[in-house]
Amino acid sequence: MIEEMKLDGNAIGGLLREIFTMEMTAAQTTCAGCGAVNAVGRVDVYLHAPGTVVRCPECESVLMRIVHGSGRYWVDLSGTRLLEFAEA
Ligand SMILES: [Zn+2]
Repeated sequence: MIEEMKLDGNAIGGLLREIFTMEMTAAQTTCAGCGAVNAVGRVDVYLHAPGTVVRCPECESVLMRIVHGSGRYWVDLSGTRLLEFAEA
């Protein structure tokens, strides 16, 4: 049985900051599945070592998959139609 740890988007603030080098929790994501627009701080986050799965709080579609290991990042944004954020 796989225990999932469900968190909110603030849990990936540090991880996204490593990738985008700026504060991303206030960024807006548009779900490719249902079109819902949510702040990154509001999305559902599931931690599965070594990866992180981010789901839409409206329809539970996967918005992002992020894997970090061996000195590399893999960022799958196929479930995010649009990512909007303010310049630093
Ligand atoms: Zn959705």
